[in-house]
Amino acid sequence: MPPATTRFAPSPTGLLHLGHAHAALFAHRAAAGGRFLLRLEDIDRTRCRPEFAEALLEDLAWLGLSWEQPVRVQSRHFPDYAAVLAGLRARGLLYPCFCTRAEIAASASAPHGPEGALYPGTCRGLSPAQRDAKVAAGLPYALRLDMAAALRAVPGPLCFEEAGEGRLRCDPAGFGDVVLARKDTPASYHLCVCHDDALQGVTLVTRGVDLKPATQLHRLLQALCGWPQPAYAHHGLLLGPDGRRLAKRDQAPTLRALRQAGRTPAEVRVLAGFPD
Ligand code: GLU
Repeated sequence: MPPATTRFAPSPTGLLHLGHAHAALFAHRAAAGGRFLLRLEDIDRTRCRPEFAEALLEDLAWLGLSWEQPVRVQSRHFPDYAAVLAGLRARGLLYPCFCTRAEIAASASAPHGPEGALYPGTCRGLSPAQRDAKVAAGLPYALRLDMAAALRAVPGPLCFEEAGEGRLRCDPAGFGDVVLARKDTPASYHLCVCHDDALQGVTLVTRGVDLKPATQLHRLLQALCGWPQPAYAHHGLLLGPDGRRLAKRDQAPTLRALRQAGRTPAEVRVLAGFPD
């Protein structure tokens, strides 16, 4: 196998903690002899902050990592994502959804998929005239994938290659009519991550196992858009001393705090599960 192109793709919503260091070192290690990229997934302008982006570049360099330049910063590329959305919409694969969160929650008897309650499809059935009237009235809308139409548009079945497991079968239908552009964010994580992995020539996607279900949807988007299919290696999540997953909300130690407490990069790499 030729050496891989991998990436670490954090969202600058806070300071990096040991779990991020584990993910970054995992991706870096997997690129051995190949290319290692860094991408800032900062499309959510309400949660991402430039100061966290700056801090994470500094923390990763302190940890001893280096990456190819330039770093792709997703928020600078909204027109790229808009063009993909326009293409999917022109093929009848997306529709505008005017429902509020409250309206969707009210139909809570709906079955659940990997990302919570499945959208009941209310706006899928609107006529073009009804849609136009709502848009003209200035109602904000999200863009949803018409899952049934999308599945008809790709030659099935979809699979992906997982390190150590082989070929795994995908069932993206479980996501229902997933949102690909939100009312307040013009593109979704799912769309941007697939677009950028293709654009940047990523051949091996490494990320936490919590995102493994999403790969089924990503394979569908790749097939719909004609993007190449990377291989995948989903890694386990670093657990805290209490056995729970490290996360910002649990006040996991940040790389910055460890550094300020006098830990060396080598010591932090050990704590992050990469002793050599
Ligand atoms: N930006 C995502 C996160 O911070 C990672 C996406 C990915 O690696 O596919 O969780």
